[in-house]
Amino acid sequence: MLKQFCDHCGEETEHREIIKQKPSKYGNSRKEQFKAFLSGFFAGTVSPAGASLDLIDRYVVCKKCGHKKRENLGDEFQ
Ligand SMILES: [Zn+2]
Repeated sequence: MLKQFCDHCGEETEHREIIKQKPSKYGNSRKEQFKAFLSGFFAGTVSPAGASLDLIDRYVVCKKCGHKKRENLGDEFQ
């Protein structure tokens, strides 16, 4: 369970996490995906799971009011 401050409720509430994959700027073919992976790899943005952090949007949603807040993993990994 994720306790976070909700701007909407004005208090700490329980949130759940949603992760969405951004549409890739590369094509959808396997070859293009591989290129995208490599460019992420060399840019140092590939997570241990193999997904490029560049391509992921992370949201937290307030369980009380449903307010959705984008919360990308930022500088802590850089
Ligand atoms: Zn809320």
